[in-house]
Amino acid sequence: MKRRAVLAAGATVAGSVMAGATLGATAGGDPGPRQPSPAAETTIETGALRPGTRRETPYFEVGSGDDGPTAVVVGGVHGNEVSGYRAAERIAEWQVTDGSVVVVPWANVVAVRRNEREGPDGDLNRQFSIGGEPETPLARSLWELVAAADPDVVVDLHRSRGIYGTHGRWVGQALFPTAAGDATSDADAVADRVNEAAVPASMWAHRFRRGNTLRGTSPMLIHKVSADLDTAGVLVELTEFYLDVDTQVRWTELIAERLLSRHGIERRGSAL
Ligand SMILES: [Zn+2]
Repeated sequence: MKRRAVLAAGATVAGSVMAGATLGATAGGDPGPRQPSPAAETTIETGALRPGTRRETPYFEVGSGDDGPTAVVVGGVHGNEVSGYRAAERIAEWQVTDGSVVVVPWANVVAVRRNEREGPDGDLNRQFSIGGEPETPLARSLWELVAAADPDVVVDLHRSRGIYGTHGRWVGQALFPTAAGDATSDADAVADRVNEAAVPASMWAHRFRRGNTLRGTSPMLIHKVSADLDTAGVLVELTEFYLDVDTQVRWTELIAERLLSRHGIERRGSAL
């Protein structure tokens, strides 16, 4: 809702351009914004978390120029979950016709550069203390950005190794909603839509389903969104089990697109 508040949230404004940024991070590459593309039209404003440190990582605000709904999309909380941050890179290049999207593609940029889950500070997705300050400077910085955006929905993009309910603790191909908001209905509706539109009938094991509800019982980002912001959020888990990374990225992007659409944020040139 409060789009302008985002850039005043203590994060340094690195620049503001009336063009699309071309993002080029890949596994093992050097994540970061490249030269703006003159072809794009949507306003993209950028800032950075932890500026001036080795954990400095940019965020992008993709705006339609109105005061409509706001989403926050996060990738790279786990640095070896390539499909999550590659999908986030693509979302940072969207154009939207309503509302705005704040995208943090490489939340744990050191871990992304190393292609490892945790990076030097441990598991970032266990540092969002419920009812209090996040435990590390990076987690606090990300949380400040999320809270300042006053979002209608928060989407956290991850990748798992197996199939939810089949492979022990693995949670792939599931959408985990907050207790807050209508996230449970969102997860059901989006899972149905993406299954119908994108998952071949022969891949029944890969059909998306709704995971358990996140209600503030663990120090994870989306748990904290539910408990402390009382706001809708979804943790998205794609599997890499018999699924190539390009398909993981495409399906992750579709899920994000449909989730944001449920909150009134429409991607220009929607794929569904
Ligand atoms: Zn993860």
